[in-house]
Amino acid sequence: MFPFFRYYPSFFFLFFFNLLSSVFLFSPVFPATTFPDFSTLTPDNNNNNHDYYAWRGFARFLDAGKGTEVNGISELKKYLNRFGYLPLPPQNNFSDIFDDQFVSALSLYQNRLGLSVTGKLDSETIATIMSPRCGISDLTKFNNNGSTIHSTRRYAFFNGQPRWIRASTLTYALSPDYTIDYLTPSEIRKVVRRSFSRWSAVIPLNFTESSDYDSSDIRIGFYRGDHGDGEAFDGVLGVLAHAFSPENGRLHLDAAERWAVDFEKEKSKVAVDLESVVTHEIGHVLGLAHSAVKESVMYPSLSPRGKKVDLRIDDVEGIQVLYGTNPNFKLESFLESEKSMNNNGSSSSSSNNNSKLLFLLFFYLLIMIW
Ligand SMILES: [Zn+2]
Ligand SMILES: [Zn+2]
Repeated sequence: MFPFFRYYPSFFFLFFFNLLSSVFLFSPVFPATTFPDFSTLTPDNNNNNHDYYAWRGFARFLDAGKGTEVNGISELKKYLNRFGYLPLPPQNNFSDIFDDQFVSALSLYQNRLGLSVTGKLDSETIATIMSPRCGISDLTKFNNNGSTIHSTRRYAFFNGQPRWIRASTLTYALSPDYTIDYLTPSEIRKVVRRSFSRWSAVIPLNFTESSDYDSSDIRIGFYRGDHGDGEAFDGVLGVLAHAFSPENGRLHLDAAERWAVDFEKEKSKVAVDLESVVTHEIGHVLGLAHSAVKESVMYPSLSPRGKKVDLRIDDVEGIQVLYGTNPNFKLESFLESEKSMNNNGSSSSSSNNNSKLLFLLFFYLLIMIW
């Protein structure tokens, strides 16, 4: 009933193999069939053990072909079902056949995630599927009304377009009980305050922190595994967080992640940027669903050690449809700063991706040698 959202890690080494073979025209260093099957490893919620990442086993489905029986591909069908792309079959039993319905679901997934629509399990699609993400289903109505300034608008709302109407100032609080111990309360509060301020800068809504958790409009906590709302968290990476649509106010972060407020200090390769995820989740709390614009805050996935905290025009236009515009918001200066972000972002994100590729290749080499 309640939509959720989550994030996950990208598996860029798949890209790397493709890149090597296509750019340098030699065979991949390791044939795809030798990818280690991480799905057989035991999940471990201890943050020091990163042998298991959710959805890692999907790497073995790279380039699986239509019409064939692919052992275990029913797991991928369950994934697509979970995020709204495939209906449950009778008896809730997915087959291992790569059938037409699966092709349609894949094509829809590719469309909604802003990928090339091939209907195939290509490397881009597999890497996106393996990325950590938000638990909320992606299939909500896309809004295509509005101005014609930006033809790429892909923001979306929850069914019925719910929004907060009870007050123009909402209170929020961090759970005193469900928290993490390696970040200080003040570090977490600072990040959360900043995340709320990004949204209040563009709409006429204010957010104030409250010390009374139970009576707050928005309640934020770190939870582990099955925590009683029917959406169990899954350990390291996989689903990172979820939140509930208006006017519920619950925002849950997976306590099994290695949350970071500063990547200079936090060196874990599976660290997740707290501010990026909280900013995304607040978007859900306020009534936005997922966007297909990769750069937007409301895109459903986020790479480990990735950071995406600045609202994009797609996020702003979506939230302003629900709440109107903050009188202090200046569209022109926003577009100017977005343009410079795009310019800076393209070079830094490409060098970021290169580092990720190199790192993952190195990581994979270590595993092979070991
Ligand atoms: Zn989400
Ligand atoms: Zn929850």
